Amino acid sequence: MSEKFTPTRCSLCDTGDRIVSARFRQVYSQKDSKPVLLDWWECGACGGLFVHPIPPIEVVNRHLASVDYNDESFVSDIAKAKEQLQRRILKGLSCWTRPGELLDFGCNFGQFLVLAREAGWEPYGFEPYLPAAEAARSRGFKVWSQWSFEESDFVEGSFSAIAAVDVLSLVWDPIKTLRTFSQLLKPGGMLVMRLTNKRFVLEIVRAISRPGPARDHSVSNILLGQFHSIGIESLKRVLRGVGFDRINVQTNALTAPWHHLRWQTRLAYAGSEVLYRLSRINLSPGVLLFAQRSRQFTSQEHVADFQQVQGDRRFPPICRGQTPKIQDFT
Ligand SMILES: [Zn+2]
Repeated sequence: MSEKFTPTRCSLCDTGDRIVSARFRQVYSQKDSKPVLLDWWECGACGGLFVHPIPPIEVVNRHLASVDYNDESFVSDIAKAKEQLQRRILKGLSCWTRPGELLDFGCNFGQFLVLAREAGWEPYGFEPYLPAAEAARSRGFKVWSQWSFEESDFVEGSFSAIAAVDVLSLVWDPIKTLRTFSQLLKPGGMLVMRLTNKRFVLEIVRAISRPGPARDHSVSNILLGQFHSIGIESLKRVLRGVGFDRINVQTNALTAPWHHLRWQTRLAYAGSEVLYRLSRINLSPGVLLFAQRSRQFTSQEHVADFQQVQGDRRFPPICRGQTPKIQDFT
């Protein structure tokens, strides 16, 4: 990797220095052609890993066409598992705020929009993949469909909640997207994200392997198509820097039935849960994060210095009688 391609800023925390090569390349599969190798970088400020440069849209589309997460024999069970997660999200939101306008960022075919509407929300969707967006529209929802979320014609402060399930790791400029979330939410509005938590396991792979094709393949099998990875604590600091002040992270956010998970994934969930109960260190492979937009945060021009954002300032909210049993496997 040539130094002339070194990014000038971290796409996760916006810090411009201490960026070095992550010493691996992502093997990014392509339909009907050879995989593309993507350079990854490490930020010394937030500890995050990210790809740079982001591949062109046609390369992203060829990758999306090359992966198929759907196995017809599992579709029904997986839909059921996702519905469990979606209901858990709605239940969690009800602990923080009353139903209002809700944006599902990456709404896919609109399954969550339907559940949200049933729960009393006024749901809207954003979905770059046009066929999915049109399917969601056919269910009676307003759905924006374009590649650039930041250039959409949303009105600032217009949503009570934004949901982003398994999509943050796929956006090209995550801190820009998080800032936009903050701007679109009303003061006190809620952001809820389901996130994969891979930063720690990536570190293990890097520690036990040498730079080269074998490491590239191992890392790529973990990353799949995502463009960045950051630890949960660092992400919380980034969120505080863009205007969120109360943050609650829950473990065991499964999106597939337990019996369909690979044994390695089950072991990771079970082991991380034991660790979490003993130490509160959260290495759960899938987490749910709830973040409330500050009622005091008003400057949309504010760019936080990541280094100055420290520690938890408030405890997560208590929702008597409604708190999901987050320690249970779903
Ligand atoms: Zn960073």
